[in-house]
Amino acid sequence: MRQVDPFGCGCTECVTGLSVPLHEATAEDISNMIVHDDLELNLTDAYFKITVIADWHQDFGLMNKRVMMDYRVDETTVRVWDMTDTQLGWEVSTP
Ligand SMILES: [Zn+2]
Repeated sequence: MRQVDPFGCGCTECVTGLSVPLHEATAEDISNMIVHDDLELNLTDAYFKITVIADWHQDFGLMNKRVMMDYRVDETTVRVWDMTDTQLGWEVSTP
């Protein structure tokens, strides 16, 4: 698991791959950062918004679930990750 550094970071750890800057982070990096909060992988100092989108049909019930993560600065979305197939996505969309 990699530490996630701030958006735009280009420090030595990001260059060598020990850390990843937020703008290059994968959904898996974001999931690990939040699910394994005790490992202190989150060095982003960032604000995130998690959205669970569920399509419901009266005959078929829950058709489709998606979990999206937005990185936001001043109410503006800078980057979006589809978290549906990550551990975080599973945890926030499972009752
Ligand atoms: Zn860095």
